[in-house]
Amino acid sequence: MDEVRVDCGKCGGLLDVAYHWDKLPLPRTLSAFENQWSNRNDPLAFSGVWRFHDLLPFAPRDKVVTIGEGQTLLHQSPGVAKYVGVQQDNLYLQYEGMNPSGSFKDNGMSAAFTHAHSIGASRAACASTGNTSASLATYCSVSRLMKAIIFIGSGKIAYGKLAQALELGALTVQIAGDFDDAMERVRQVTAQLGIYLVNSVNPFRLEGQKTIMLRVLEALRWDVPDWIVVPGGNLGNSSAFGKAFAELLELGLIQRAPRLAVINAAGANTLKELYEDQGIRWNGGNIDWPAIDQFFAEMNESGRRASTIASAIEINRPVNLSKCLRALDVCDGVVRDVSDQEILDAKAQVGAGGMGCEPASAASVAGAKLLREQGIIGRDERVVCILTGHQLKDPTATVAYHTTDQDEFNRVLGSRGVRRATFANRAVAVANDLDEIVRAIQLYS
Ligand SMILES: *Cc1c(COP(=O)(O)O)cnc(C)c1O
Repeated sequence: MDEVRVDCGKCGGLLDVAYHWDKLPLPRTLSAFENQWSNRNDPLAFSGVWRFHDLLPFAPRDKVVTIGEGQTLLHQSPGVAKYVGVQQDNLYLQYEGMNPSGSFKDNGMSAAFTHAHSIGASRAACASTGNTSASLATYCSVSRLMKAIIFIGSGKIAYGKLAQALELGALTVQIAGDFDDAMERVRQVTAQLGIYLVNSVNPFRLEGQKTIMLRVLEALRWDVPDWIVVPGGNLGNSSAFGKAFAELLELGLIQRAPRLAVINAAGANTLKELYEDQGIRWNGGNIDWPAIDQFFAEMNESGRRASTIASAIEINRPVNLSKCLRALDVCDGVVRDVSDQEILDAKAQVGAGGMGCEPASAASVAGAKLLREQGIIGRDERVVCILTGHQLKDPTATVAYHTTDQDEFNRVLGSRGVRRATFANRAVAVANDLDEIVRAIQLYS
């Protein structure tokens, strides 16, 4: 607990947080957590992460750093239910974009930041496709406890996210390379300079992200849904969800786990290839590493790089691969990949039926639709899709999808293999003339 390290040091495997549950005070039922609601003047009871402190008790309460994360919403969406093909009251969207920095990353950042603070760190760093850096920058600027240092790849970051890092005062290091390159470098640099690393290689991040599942259960009045569908990038979220359910089962707080579906983008589908095509499994911890090493060796040789419009999951070397295999084992999981076309069409449906999300988030809805078409998700099953990030994170893709300008469409989306804006809501162009404006409104509404 008092060291800055994320891996074993010998085998390179990531560390995992484990608790002596038998020595800790625990609630007898999950509904006991609702008592926290009456105590919302206490910042820990207010936080959607720390009101579950009993289930992530790695730091004493007085060391916890919270900025009010986890005030998120589970929203029933009949429109998206229809699109996915399940009964209309069976599709739920978990809006993690409502977090302070606009993505689910705040759940984990609050926990990693708490650990960093408890051991006296003064600088924290991450490599990021954007949202981890926006989250770190937010925790640093709000708490004023640490300096944020972020590594980004060149040209691979959505404007909303870059805007946050710059405006919130993070030291921003732009590397000539992609996310996988930035990730490798940040691990070297933080080790050399003794800077606290907050990427999801950090085991405490996952502790905070477990609470997304606790809030979903809470919103369903502690009923376990049939499916949790989540986009997969570095696989921190899916790993955390599996850990949450494994622990709740172990503690007897739930009787069964939901099934977990992890959705890759087709242009960054390492997990799908390993799990579905090659049959790699957790296998009680005896993972077939030679087969995985071979997979990455071939990836290196062919020079294959991740490529998708969903920049938050544009990752070919997921750092939490083994923990995710464990999660898939606990939750009888499946993995699918979806094209950028499917992602953007699903995103348009999410927006039209609710509050909107960024491209990566919509992979969950596109994946649920695919699994429904394949008959793996049943029409009468209850499905929760995790919307990982806010709609305004990446306006470029959204505007290009709805544009009337074919050149703009081709420039932003055509190069990604997107051919149609199936659900485009195009702006209506009218002359600056009262009669014409009135006529256009009468015609279209
Ligand atoms: C980080 C991120 C993901 C990917 O989550 P992992 O835990 O890395 O699999 C998906 N969507 C958004 C919006 C993200 O910021």
